[in-house]
Amino acid sequence: MQTLVEGVHHFRQNVFPSKLRLFKRLAKGQQPIALFITCSDSRVNPNLITHTEPGELFILRNAGNIVPPYGAANGGEEATIEFAVAGLGVEDVIVCGHSHCGAIRGLLQPDAIKGLPAVAAWLSHAEATRRIVARKYERCSLAERLARATEQNVLVQLEHLRTHPSIAAALACGRLRLHGWVYKIETGEVSAYDPDQQAFHPVTTVIPAPPPSPPSSPPSSPPSSPTRIPAASRAKAKLSRAV
Ligand SMILES: [Zn+2]
Repeated sequence: MQTLVEGVHHFRQNVFPSKLRLFKRLAKGQQPIALFITCSDSRVNPNLITHTEPGELFILRNAGNIVPPYGAANGGEEATIEFAVAGLGVEDVIVCGHSHCGAIRGLLQPDAIKGLPAVAAWLSHAEATRRIVARKYERCSLAERLARATEQNVLVQLEHLRTHPSIAAALACGRLRLHGWVYKIETGEVSAYDPDQQAFHPVTTVIPAPPPSPPSSPPSSPPSSPTRIPAASRAKAKLSRAV
């Protein structure tokens, strides 16, 4: 606990003053660029892996980055999703799984969560993942099945996401994009699902061209130059092709 107390002190003394303008602005409200749904695992840090600041990601976390189908659970997921999409108007939703996920291991190896009845019950919302992997990858090694289950679970939870009225309505209006990601702890690599190729591929860094300058402005840098871009644009540029 001492680590956390010292961390708070460091934040107040060093970090907060350096970002004072940001926090003053955030005190007036939030306008996050995306809803980021991921696992509670302590090794996954959404802001770190997307290089975003406070105020840029609206984050929903639970064991296994699970989204129960609408009406299937009385948890906070429905409210969080509705608030982000219908209340704050986020335009992108990312479901991000990760390597070495304890929930995924528990899904494939029930003995790993023996004595954890709440976890077992929660994982029923990933039963489709378990069955897909059992049928489709039955001849694969455990390591391979865990990796495929992590990816499949992202896709299953994206399907559940579509059952939420706020998501369905925003998708129908063409103002929402869904993305499936997997973060690999040991390499830092983030892969995104490509619906055309039906496979996960590494997210590539894309630096967008700077916005066109008004006629009176001096010439802008060529699009290929490593121009510093606002954090929000940077994060949007990193979002993958929508599912
Ligand atoms: Zn996990």
